[in-house]
Amino acid sequence: MVLSTKEATKTLFYHLETFGCQMNVNDSEYLSGQLEEMGYVMTRDINIADLIILNTCCVRAKVEQKIYSRAGIISKIKKFKPYIIFGICGCMAQKGKEMIKKRVPAVDLIFGPSQITSVQKLLENFKQNKRRKTTILCDNKESFQLASTPIKHQSSITAYLQIMKGCNNFCSYCIVPYVRGPEESRPAEEILLEIESLAQKNFKEIMLLGQNVNSYGYDLNLKTKENFLTLLSKVNNIKNIERIRFITSHPKDFNLDLVKVIEKHPKICEHIHLPLQSGSDTILKKMNRKYNMEQYYNIINNIKEHIPGASISSDIMVGFPGETERDFEETIQALKNIGFDSVYSFIYSNREGTLSPFLGKDVPLETKKKRLWTLLDIQKDIANQKNRYLIGETVEILVESSSKKGIEKQYWGKTRTNKVAVFTYPYQEDLLGRLVNVKIQNADAYTLYGELINGKLK
Ligand code: SF4
Repeated sequence: MVLSTKEATKTLFYHLETFGCQMNVNDSEYLSGQLEEMGYVMTRDINIADLIILNTCCVRAKVEQKIYSRAGIISKIKKFKPYIIFGICGCMAQKGKEMIKKRVPAVDLIFGPSQITSVQKLLENFKQNKRRKTTILCDNKESFQLASTPIKHQSSITAYLQIMKGCNNFCSYCIVPYVRGPEESRPAEEILLEIESLAQKNFKEIMLLGQNVNSYGYDLNLKTKENFLTLLSKVNNIKNIERIRFITSHPKDFNLDLVKVIEKHPKICEHIHLPLQSGSDTILKKMNRKYNMEQYYNIINNIKEHIPGASISSDIMVGFPGETERDFEETIQALKNIGFDSVYSFIYSNREGTLSPFLGKDVPLETKKKRLWTLLDIQKDIANQKNRYLIGETVEILVESSSKKGIEKQYWGKTRTNKVAVFTYPYQEDLLGRLVNVKIQNADAYTLYGELINGKLK
């Protein structure tokens, strides 16, 4: 779709705000690609935008509150500039379209994650309807249309790539399967063609995305026999791609075969994100996670045995309904036993439509907060120790950004193990997108600080 003659005579700006996970970030890249194909220009300044879109998340109540507060501000702007088109899309739109319409009457477009690739059509319809009524389209069973959709990547070094959508797991606290629908894998040929094209455009790193990448291919035609392991091997063979990452894995599907595939293929980074959620078997059962601690420890042991030096990160939730002090102690013990390199921890929040509120007594907010702070403190010490252990080591960094520091340039990048590393480099030469070797001189819980090893630029 192109803009009308009248619209085309002036520059139209769009402002896009993204909440939530990497899937949403990637969805926003598709939104940008389509809007820019229509002639819209991106702006960070909400006050000059002609089109404002909030790409939303509904995994936690706190994020939803923040989104409604942003929607309130945009509604006020729209009072003075009624020509602005205001859209709310993504998971929260899918979950609560009626509620959004009621609470945000100024909204013009409401569409779900599966309609991200249809934003041009939605805008066209809205304009054809003379902007009179809110356009709502939320069908989470609609299929992927990613291959034919323009995309604007936020980085020129790392490309996000969705290999599947949806989730069949129905963890008892999670709203995702209801809003993103059932699992649907993209055909492997389509994924591989896209990665080849990214390699030609000089992307160095590919991040394969899915709610549960380990079950990639289960829904595909059995004749193709394509699964996550075969897909990883094929991606590893693509020339000029230096690093492969993937997120998110489910422990119930993370088997020894996958560990061996990571061990065998040099481009697959030694970083595994494996959400634990709780260290208590009782809570894991209530969460419907379909693994217990013994099985989780088995995976960790396999990773440590086959991929020495691998980093392991996790998600942990505190205050699940009915979580006792003892359950929480078991989580802390697991944290100490495993020694995660980093943990994304958060307080349980009740999501309407899920089973969890009926599975136990709500834990008082004060207790939830106390548990979160205890966990954060302990994890900070663990991460600090793990990072300081690397002092004196030389690690490979993919350089992702830079800033000026006096006469020197400070560079920022990530190790293969997904740790952030910073170093300075006094010369003009631009290192962005390069793989360099850096000797670690200092470290804290979040960052490694080092110096470039001269002559080791790759
Ligand atoms: S695996 Fe569980 S937590 Fe992850 S998206 Fe699916 S239901 Fe939600």
